[in-house]
Amino acid sequence: MADGSTTHGLVDAHHHLYSTLARGMPAPPRAPSSFPEILQLVWWRLDRALDLDLIRWSALLGAVEALEAGTTAIVDHHSSPNAIEGSLDVIADACGEVGVRVRCCYEVTDRNGLDGAKVGLAENERFLRAGGDGFVGAHACFTLSDETLDAVCGLASDVGAGVHIHVAEGTSDDRAGARLAERARPDWLLAHAVHLDRPLPGTIAHNPRSNLNNAVGYGRPAELAAAGARVVLGTDGIGADMLDEARLAFALHRSDDVQASPEDAWSWLEAGTELVPAARDDAVTWSYAPMDPWHLAYTTGVRPLRVEVDGVLVLDEHGPTLVDAAEVRAKAAEAAMRLFQRMEDLPT
Ligand SMILES: [Zn+2]
Repeated sequence: MADGSTTHGLVDAHHHLYSTLARGMPAPPRAPSSFPEILQLVWWRLDRALDLDLIRWSALLGAVEALEAGTTAIVDHHSSPNAIEGSLDVIADACGEVGVRVRCCYEVTDRNGLDGAKVGLAENERFLRAGGDGFVGAHACFTLSDETLDAVCGLASDVGAGVHIHVAEGTSDDRAGARLAERARPDWLLAHAVHLDRPLPGTIAHNPRSNLNNAVGYGRPAELAAAGARVVLGTDGIGADMLDEARLAFALHRSDDVQASPEDAWSWLEAGTELVPAARDDAVTWSYAPMDPWHLAYTTGVRPLRVEVDGVLVLDEHGPTLVDAAEVRAKAAEAAMRLFQRMEDLPT
């Protein structure tokens, strides 16, 4: 830290690597008019079109882009209803190839029937029992019956993992607080909490760009943190550039409170290492010094020059060292074309 330009690795505490190929995807059959419609018309069309090969290219590209932003650890939340079994291994392996740490989960939901929920639970169980690092995943309370929610909680306690779940992201999930009050535990990861009506045990992942993009409102993470919650930052699938996300978290905080300090947003970014402590051993040398919240809040375009993960040089001045980033981009672009065709072919 002598020159102020080196930090530990950054953590994206809520990501969906499966959405990396989504940019430029076919327009939905009609413009969504609400957050539930955004899910139905956009994301639930995308995830149904994924197969294991598409998941692999999506994760490889997402991991490359994370590393290029100095993000050495991702907490991922995965969904691919027509390619569930083995999907978490594909993501873990892809991140491993690039040299990015990842904690995985498969999002259990009842939206694809009881069989879909069962296969999702089984994928979490298979991955975690085989020694995979992650959580038991769940979509959101409004797509989970009590029975399935209890099965998620039961599996989590059986395997000694937390639950990674979307909580009160939009008003359509405003019963989440009541339904999770007796279920949530301190090792849970609660994404969004924009409309959460009560404190819950667990870490809250704030995703400012996604919340703005979905017009779901502002959850006032500073108030949640002041009340004792651990708040971390995620991108919710829109890249993994955590300096950019922290800058936006600050701008959004300031838009709500003129006295807001960037030190709050950067403390949320820092808290991400509580979820992936090994990221503290990673080293990122940046194009800028000092790496201080008041500088970074107003300095765009700060890039990593060199990244070491677990003592291995994974990015240098030419880019990622373990994979050919140009090749990953080219293959991912081909995969995206195939994904878009599959989306067009799906019944709507
Ligand atoms: Zn999410």
